[in-house]
Amino acid sequence: MKFFYLSSTANQDGQFEIHEKECESIPDAIDRDYLGPFNNGREALRKALLMKSAAVCCTTCCQLPSQPIFKATPSSSD
Ligand SMILES: [Zn+2]
Repeated sequence: MKFFYLSSTANQDGQFEIHEKECESIPDAIDRDYLGPFNNGREALRKALLMKSAAVCCTTCCQLPSQPIFKATPSSSD
């Protein structure tokens, strides 16, 4: 379980970002609303959409599980 917050100020795209409590991009306490504890950003988004129709997941802390994982494989040819 993680604690999620919804920004109360729109970003440059007019959307309200959802952040985890630990996110480095989270707005100040007066600029966010507490959403509650959720297993992941997707569940937090469902709740947030009931409050603001333009809610989106923060790309820093709420990456959805379907995102491909980049893994660089260094060539070991010495
Ligand atoms: Zn965030």
